[in-house]
Amino acid sequence: MDQRGSYTLKGVILKNELEDEKVAEISNEEPERREYLIETYARNRGWVAEAKNRFGVYCMCENCQNTFIKLDGQPYIEVHHIVALSDGGEDSLWNLAVLCAHHHRMAHFADKKTQLDLKDALLRETHVRLN
Ligand SMILES: [Zn+2]
Ligand SMILES: [Zn+2]
Repeated sequence: MDQRGSYTLKGVILKNELEDEKVAEISNEEPERREYLIETYARNRGWVAEAKNRFGVYCMCENCQNTFIKLDGQPYIEVHHIVALSDGGEDSLWNLAVLCAHHHRMAHFADKKTQLDLKDALLRETHVRLN
């Protein structure tokens, strides 16, 4: 299914997702920006909560200490589709990872080799944690 039609969901974006919308706005490179928007608006909110529940609120990249606590006392973490929905990735727990802002940017904007290495590491990590 082509998820790009999901842009129209922007009008009904819910409070918890406003944070993700800011992430989308930071990028000014068109193709990547589109990927972010697809990811943000097509996602199933239930899975986002479940991902935090199962994977915790600390970045899944090895030895990453970047997670920080927000003013409201809650940890700041972003949920990422390991295989982008635009590449046919599933909107399910198996395809989700929790990442700090830095590693989330890397997953989308780094050179191809870095992106692939990160993708492999995340797939291994989710596999371990879901078994
Ligand atoms: Zn992402
Ligand atoms: Zn990280």
